[in-house]
Amino acid sequence: MDRQELRESYLMKILLFGKSGQVGWELQRSLAPLGEIIAPDRDSREICGDFTNPDHIAATVRSVMPDIIVNAAAHTAVDKCETDAGPAHLVNVTTPGILAHEARKLGAWLIHYSTDYVFDGSGKQPWTETDATCPLNVYGATKVKGEEAIQAEDCQHLIFRTSWVFGVHGNNFAKNILHLATVRDQLTVINDQTGAPTGADLLADITAHAIRTAILHPQVSGLYHATARGETTWYNYARLVLDTAQQAGIALSVAPENITPIPGSAFPTLARRPMNSRMDTSKLCHTFDLTLPVWQTGVSRMLTEILQHRL
Ligand code: NDP
Repeated sequence: MDRQELRESYLMKILLFGKSGQVGWELQRSLAPLGEIIAPDRDSREICGDFTNPDHIAATVRSVMPDIIVNAAAHTAVDKCETDAGPAHLVNVTTPGILAHEARKLGAWLIHYSTDYVFDGSGKQPWTETDATCPLNVYGATKVKGEEAIQAEDCQHLIFRTSWVFGVHGNNFAKNILHLATVRDQLTVINDQTGAPTGADLLADITAHAIRTAILHPQVSGLYHATARGETTWYNYARLVLDTAQQAGIALSVAPENITPIPGSAFPTLARRPMNSRMDTSKLCHTFDLTLPVWQTGVSRMLTEILQHRL
């Protein structure tokens, strides 16, 4: 075996689901140095990436025989989950459970993502991994059950609970606000829900870093809160977005200081949202020796990229 063959024989095989999503898109970049990535999507023909078909997903895992399964696929349409509970359960609970089952049989790692919506949002303290879950909506309930399905299989796993995800690729709050501030003459934004906007790129980098540690130290298997540092409200987040856009010379029909702050109760949605989404990330930082950036760093970087294309 020559040197190149020897190197390739040690390459890890990574099976990635959800590659078209915000986090999945960034994972394609961050996981690339770790090994070979096989990433079927919903429409893939040769191997299945459709989470509404758990049996075919199981067959995919058995045929690929990955060292690591990374699941960034999820039914993330929070309000739609209220009326779409069956498909949401299939995608967020049943298939992650199947992935965990197959991972345990193979001795593979399973990496999975969950959410601040597993909590009811009471109080003002950051939630820790040992706090009791109590979701307010169907989406949150399916994400709790997804976590439990993975934990019940007892495969080696990392579950990262994150919050308020944004990325250059995909739809998110910052992009919506930018759009609305150019087409509307009034903007109201909720000011009594608190959390940390977290970059999909940051989450993907944390994932790659954690996988490197996990391969060497399997005892780190478990559940972690993974968000950017600091906290804000949707209103203050919107102010930062529009302040940055204004400074970049974007013509806005609503100036940042003219956004109207409102309580969540004035903006009823099908699914209830938690008021307190603060997450305590000390377990993650301590276990993986990480320093997390403040949320503004990632948002500013994303805005610089998005706004360049608008000028
Ligand atoms: P996105 O909504 O951006 O992406 C979801 C991904 O799941 C897409 O690739 C989508 O594929 C795929 N998907 C949806 N349904 C199916 C299906 N039936 N079969 C196969 N794939 C499917 O999500 P994010 O990247 O933002 O989220 C990643 C993870 O982070 C999820 O677990 C989510 O619950 C969690 N999370 C997200 C938050 C957020 O604010 N976005 C906050 C907290 C946690 P397609 O493009 O074909 O639809």
